Amino acid sequence: MTGGKERDDRGPLTKLAQAGRRREWTGMPGQPGGIVSPPVWRASTILYDNVAHLRAVGTNIHERLSYGRKGTPTAWGLADALTEMEPGAGGTMLYPSGVAAISGALMAVLRPGDRLLMVDSVYDPTRNFCEQVLRPYGIDTIYYDPCDLAAIDRLLHDNSRAIFLESPGSLTFEVQDIPAITALARDRGIVTLIDNTWATPLFFPALSHGVDISILACTKYIVGHSDVMMGSVTATAGLFPQVRQTAWLFGQMTSPDDAWLAARGLRTLGVRLAQHQSSALDIARWLATRPEVARVLHPALPDCPGHDLWARDFSGSSGLFSFVLNGGDEAARAALIDGLAHFGIGYSWGGFESLALPVDPARHRSATRWQAEGPMVRLNIGLEDPADLIADLDAGLARFRARA
Ligand SMILES: *Cc1c(COP(=O)(O)O)cnc(C)c1O
Repeated sequence: MTGGKERDDRGPLTKLAQAGRRREWTGMPGQPGGIVSPPVWRASTILYDNVAHLRAVGTNIHERLSYGRKGTPTAWGLADALTEMEPGAGGTMLYPSGVAAISGALMAVLRPGDRLLMVDSVYDPTRNFCEQVLRPYGIDTIYYDPCDLAAIDRLLHDNSRAIFLESPGSLTFEVQDIPAITALARDRGIVTLIDNTWATPLFFPALSHGVDISILACTKYIVGHSDVMMGSVTATAGLFPQVRQTAWLFGQMTSPDDAWLAARGLRTLGVRLAQHQSSALDIARWLATRPEVARVLHPALPDCPGHDLWARDFSGSSGLFSFVLNGGDEAARAALIDGLAHFGIGYSWGGFESLALPVDPARHRSATRWQAEGPMVRLNIGLEDPADLIADLDAGLARFRARA
């Protein structure tokens, strides 16, 4: 935790290299020197010196060895690094998946009788959690239009406890006016939570824009290599104790091996995101010139709803975006995707390998309607040569044209 430290003037790339490497996690007590990164500490039982020691440590303690479920320096180092990446944060908890982090954060702030405001362009499993878990437990979720600030104001009631944001939205990439929403919430004592997986704290440090709780599917860019499932919740100092307590009560934790892989991924987040950004922009701009493409939904392109807000608030764009085809049907879209040589077909994203996915946002809306000129494809632009990816998509668009 960095809360209470003097002002930190280091740039975010310097923090990525240095964060979470506390001396007590990388060296041996009483010995000079140390290793670079906290190693894998695997443990369930922790051995105590005597009963007095056992009593002194207790069980409700943070960042002290007490029992495997409370973590070891491997997970603490990663959590500490994520906290350092979010100026204004009090601490971070880790979860076995991004969805577990989302449900863990919501359970930490909501009680029966509360009302939750949820952005309509939210990641579909978040909506499912609200409908299939929160609603039966007496927590009402109301969905709002990501592009309509006045709608939030209208939907607020005395029992509104939290506003959940995801910006840009899943599949359709609408950018929300985050500072305006958090200002409105703060005036009324309402907690704001954001799914910040797309931008990561590198391109959007959410807490410094007024958000209380920032959630990441670390599975995506933090891990970056498509081989670990993990989530994180970073909260203000005021909310962190209840986030941590809820995670402990639910027994949430991550394996030390996974935490070690995620911490390794985190070190190269800066260079990976720079490349994802530049390749994705090349490809998005090329797609925008194509007659087979009706629209490219990429926050850095002017067509994207909320583009001006993105330009104002974000310091970069990542490698995930969608495009809408001009006419054509399911079979024409499948012809485009099925023949791609350099794009895999699969869920998740944020890894080094490119992916193409057919997406149908209309199925996941309730407060707004999704209308488009044709079927849609979401691309995860990986670290391959952009020219190879463009040639591959060019051939894909030719297959689409032949079927459309
Ligand atoms: C993938 C994803 C999640 C969930 O992460 P998992 O680790 O797959 O559970 C949450 N939010 C967004 C925006 C995602 O894309």
